[in-house]
Amino acid sequence: MTAIEVDAHAVLTRRRQALARPHAPAAGAPDARWTDYDAMPLPPERRELDEIDAALRRIGEGRYGSCEACGGPIGRQRLRAIPEARYCLACSGRSPAAPA
Ligand SMILES: [Zn+2]
Repeated sequence: MTAIEVDAHAVLTRRRQALARPHAPAAGAPDARWTDYDAMPLPPERRELDEIDAALRRIGEGRYGSCEACGGPIGRQRLRAIPEARYCLACSGRSPAAPA
């Protein structure tokens, strides 16, 4: 792992633990009513959790830091600000519906 990957992994793992806790009641706990979770749309925390998981997977696969759209480097500063970023700055500002 590169230094930036090590840092990102630590940050993402910490955030993942903080996010996962309130949404993962133990099975059989008195307040763990599955119907609540089944009926609810994905809360923002859940989406963030998915992004974090995806970023951790990319670190594991050695693809971390590459833009998923153009394949270019996402950039150190951007990864420091948004460790789970999938796209470089240029691609993230581009609407998928209207490619430049
Ligand atoms: Zn890009």
